[in-house]
Amino acid sequence: MTPLKQSLLRRIAQTGPLTVAEYMTECLLHPQHGYYTTQTALGAEGDFITAPEISQMFGEVIGLWLAQVWLDQGAPNPFILAELGPGRGTLMADILRATARVPDFHDALQLHLVEVSPVLKEAQIKALHTHDITHHASLADLPEAPLFLVANEFFDALPIRQFQRSGEGWRERLIGAKDDMLQWGLGPQSNMPVLEHRLGDTEDGQIVELNTAAEAIAQDIGRRIAQSGGAALCVDYGDDLSRANSFQAVKAHDHTDPLQDPGQADLTAHVAFDPLAKSARPARASALTPQGVFLERLGITQRAQSLAAHLSGDALDMHIAAHKRLTHPQEMGTLFKVLALTPATAPLPPALDA
Ligand code: SAH
Repeated sequence: MTPLKQSLLRRIAQTGPLTVAEYMTECLLHPQHGYYTTQTALGAEGDFITAPEISQMFGEVIGLWLAQVWLDQGAPNPFILAELGPGRGTLMADILRATARVPDFHDALQLHLVEVSPVLKEAQIKALHTHDITHHASLADLPEAPLFLVANEFFDALPIRQFQRSGEGWRERLIGAKDDMLQWGLGPQSNMPVLEHRLGDTEDGQIVELNTAAEAIAQDIGRRIAQSGGAALCVDYGDDLSRANSFQAVKAHDHTDPLQDPGQADLTAHVAFDPLAKSARPARASALTPQGVFLERLGITQRAQSLAAHLSGDALDMHIAAHKRLTHPQEMGTLFKVLALTPATAPLPPALDA
């Protein structure tokens, strides 16, 4: 038995079953045995692959989107260019390369990265070695200034709680133990005022998820952007609302049982974007837009064609497959969504409807 599983079983024996959020936090962030503490996780050799690791085009078009929004808001100088959960630093490296020739953009930017993983922090410092970086453990530590922020597959890593509808109330899904095995259970029925509004659109037995950590971060982003100007671009898998159990574990590019091997697999949940948009008020939220639509509107296909002109053989096949993977409705194009936050008084950001 792994040390993390042992410590979880001990905790359950002492203080009772864990919420999904408590379990996720231990599995992902435990100071010695947590998944993000110990693993580099990302990329073809890791457990999962993200859009910036699939192709440089993803970061390039997002970089140009950020530069356009910055210009539309009068090119504030200085400004903070921030990323939440930058992984291996690939997205930020592509953003910086794509914006190198935007006049004054690099002179005005101060690069701030929010990251908890010591292993990934090192990877980010390497990938971005030509730039000055300030790392933070939390968004709350960022200075106040116009803020241009990206978060790709960040909100899905934050701890959720799950509730199962039971009549006019809810029972929380909890993780307990039996015979040294972790197992699912349900807490007592309660009324849950924060879920009152979901009684109208759910049925008995249906599971909904709450991500209060994500909502608190969205609130802080919204307040900063409304006060100081800027924009946030959140890209993740999910939908407007949580409608089912989306808690999942991925290891070596395959789904596994989230209660199997705690700390060894990536645990995530789909992002419910409407609660994030509401939390970010008074910042204005864009329409929730499929990733494929967003990237096409920003010209990813023209960029793909111009890169393709220099490629042949396997490299060309891989490039074509990467473009398809990012944009096609049956791949990442529809499951992944984009939400932008801007000040209510700023021009609408490119490629997104109001
Ligand atoms: N954005 C990257 C990585 C996505 S994986 C990409 O697209 O490739 C999730 C990232 O969020 C990792 O860098 C992970 O270490 C970080 N992370 C997870 N939980 C976090 C938290 N609570 N605070 C800050 N960073 C976190």
